Amino acid sequence: MNKELRQAVIAGNWKMNKTRPEAKALIEELIPIAEKANCGVVICVPFTNLETAVELTKGTNIKVGAENVHFEKSGAFTGEISADMLTEIGVEYVIIGHSERRQYFGETDETVNKRTKSALAAGLKPIVCVGELLWERECNITEEVVARQIKLDLFDVSAEDVKKTIIAYEPVWAIGTGKVATAEQAEEVCKLIRDTLAKLYDKETADAVTIQYGGSMNPKNAAELLAQEDVDGGLIGGASLKAADFGVLLDEASK
Ligand code: PEP
Repeated sequence: MNKELRQAVIAGNWKMNKTRPEAKALIEELIPIAEKANCGVVICVPFTNLETAVELTKGTNIKVGAENVHFEKSGAFTGEISADMLTEIGVEYVIIGHSERRQYFGETDETVNKRTKSALAAGLKPIVCVGELLWERECNITEEVVARQIKLDLFDVSAEDVKKTIIAYEPVWAIGTGKVATAEQAEEVCKLIRDTLAKLYDKETADAVTIQYGGSMNPKNAAELLAQEDVDGGLIGGASLKAADFGVLLDEASK
């Protein structure tokens, strides 16, 4: 089983949710639940909650991530945050290229690639999101779409750096819709991603990369998805906002 060669990681994506008091309450509830986990535990929170999250999780097994990062170091980029600004306050992970950013904020594979490289250069671990639209799946081009995203998003990223990168396979039609990819669909595309990495780098590198599934994962469907050979955890939206639900996913990923 190559699953042992890499760490399963459950990462919450809080999106634009939780005021500071709400974030504090959720994290305090989560800490004792996460303590038992035998997998990586990450919470990616809105910028305004990052410092609170870093402070509250000090000395625990919960790591903190941001939901986006800009690729320039500094300058006239109103509203943006640099990788150094994130590492300076103790952030360790960052989601890059989430489909909501691609869909609503004009994110492209080129900017995903730039953001990924500047995150890695600053010492952040990127969670790079890829996935097909429903229309692309119906046209039977999922493999082409996802392989293309992997090649473009990771262009010029070294083998050493790709091992620090998490890839999240998130079929766009499954995000926040309640429609989940079947375990077979999730495994098929996660394996395709690993095979693409093996071609771009080598098998040893590909086997070391954590590849998550994301898209309406919840306590009911997690066991089957997480049992797949090439699914190493999940990127979790809705179910990361309730400590008990997130805890079930941590338990499943720890098996
Ligand atoms: C996500 O936002 O990355 C996600 C997978 O959301 P949800 O779990 O709500 O579908």
